[in-house]
Amino acid sequence: MSQVSSFNTCQRLFEQQQQQTLRIGQLTIKERQVLLRDFSKALDRHRPALLAALEQDLHKHAFEADLSEFWLLYEEIHFAIRELPFWAKPERVATPLALWGTRSEVVSQPKGQVLILSPWNYPLLLTLMPLVGALAAGNTAIIKPSELAPATAEAMAALIAEVFDPTHVALVQGGAEMAEALLELPFNHIFYTGSPRVGKIVMAAASKHLASVTLELGGKSPIIIDESASVKDAVDKLTVKWLNAGQTCITADYVLVHRSLLEPFTKTLKESLVKNYGAHGVKPDMQPSYGCVITQRHTRRLADMVDDAVSLGATLLHGGDYDTDKRYMGPTVLTGVTDDMQVMQEEIFGPILPVKVFDTLDEVIGYLAHRPKPLALYIFSKKRTSIQKLLANTRAGGTGINNVMLHITNRYLPFGGSNNSGIGHYRGHFSFKAFSEPRAVIRQVVPVNPLKLMAPPYGKFHKRVASMLLWLAKRP
Ligand code: NAD
Repeated sequence: MSQVSSFNTCQRLFEQQQQQTLRIGQLTIKERQVLLRDFSKALDRHRPALLAALEQDLHKHAFEADLSEFWLLYEEIHFAIRELPFWAKPERVATPLALWGTRSEVVSQPKGQVLILSPWNYPLLLTLMPLVGALAAGNTAIIKPSELAPATAEAMAALIAEVFDPTHVALVQGGAEMAEALLELPFNHIFYTGSPRVGKIVMAAASKHLASVTLELGGKSPIIIDESASVKDAVDKLTVKWLNAGQTCITADYVLVHRSLLEPFTKTLKESLVKNYGAHGVKPDMQPSYGCVITQRHTRRLADMVDDAVSLGATLLHGGDYDTDKRYMGPTVLTGVTDDMQVMQEEIFGPILPVKVFDTLDEVIGYLAHRPKPLALYIFSKKRTSIQKLLANTRAGGTGINNVMLHITNRYLPFGGSNNSGIGHYRGHFSFKAFSEPRAVIRQVVPVNPLKLMAPPYGKFHKRVASMLLWLAKRP
């Protein structure tokens, strides 16, 4: 049973949470740590049900689910438990000479009431990882997971209902209409993970209440393989492209390979795919380890993308096999792609990898400069100068140099994009900051009153004071 089912209940829930916001914000560090520990223990208890749900929604193998969902989530929880006393500590800042007699600090205060809207591709991680930051920072939360991963949403609802009082954290289920209705409520912060299209709807809704937002969006993330790169290394690491059947926001969406490496790259990639998955579709013994597409509609979209590319002149180097009823599409590689093809226009978010050729790094830089900033950009090169040139002349939320997708696994790094790929960051300390507001506190510690200078009438003395302040302001 979902914890909440109708919008009216949501509104009531919002009001009940509203009454608790100040109290929740005053939970001590110890109380927040206890809550996070309870959350982790409940996750242990619910893990079998969650694994079964992930299998049902995405055909996710338990190993893959453990690595790509549970591992990062447990890490986030226990890292927050350990670091919370440091993150939450008020930060003393220096006092300029002109403010002699005062002491200043930055105090972290919770945003208040937060709404978390999550997608279906890593339905557990991307729903509960932001919740860790929200809890650590002392917020109440209403969570709405994606309706497209209903088994996981149901399993998470049971988990949340067991650990949290609904006036603190509640999970509601429903589709876009439920998300739209929730967006009408005056939350203090909205944390959204999903497509840039819906991200715009979320931001527009947030503007009605001037709520702050964290938008974790997607887009087309390139992998650049220059002429000095090790083809074998790049191909080996590209194996993660087919994790979760390619439905990963930071996976390599397309490859830009130097012309001199096109042949060895495509040959090695094909050999690797044949070895790992089979020459014709995914081998029966590999099938339990290979995820499925989220819906039949999404499978059809991916199949149409391949058809579109081939009809416009692309070569199907590998795969292309699909079964809409089974929500299946095998690892697929397209070469000879051009920008008028759908695969090069939209984020693929599936097991298709288009390969494009380049001759110079300047060409790559020019190409990317005319496209939205990606969530991730990967560089395979052995040349420091080329790596530096690409880092300096491209923009991306995260970058792997001679690796793919590893940046999300480091809890010390921020995770997020910019503009079309997102606004704001989270993970570890960045999560705590995303769900907190810095409060400037200045305290009078010596009983002097510099403000009395502002009392009129202004004369020569005031002129001298102003000159002194201006002089002080310009000191290095
Ligand atoms: P989506 O935007 O369709 O759905 C995400 C959430 O938004 C769901 O909870 C859904 O119910 C809600 N929603 C859908 N339509 C809505 C509407 N009209 N108004 C309000 N809410 C609405 O995204 P998706 O298909 O679940 O996910 C795919 C996209 O998400 C890809 O672009 C991918 O790159 C991106 N993504 C980003 C990250 C990240 O961390 N940056 C992670 C995963 C996915």
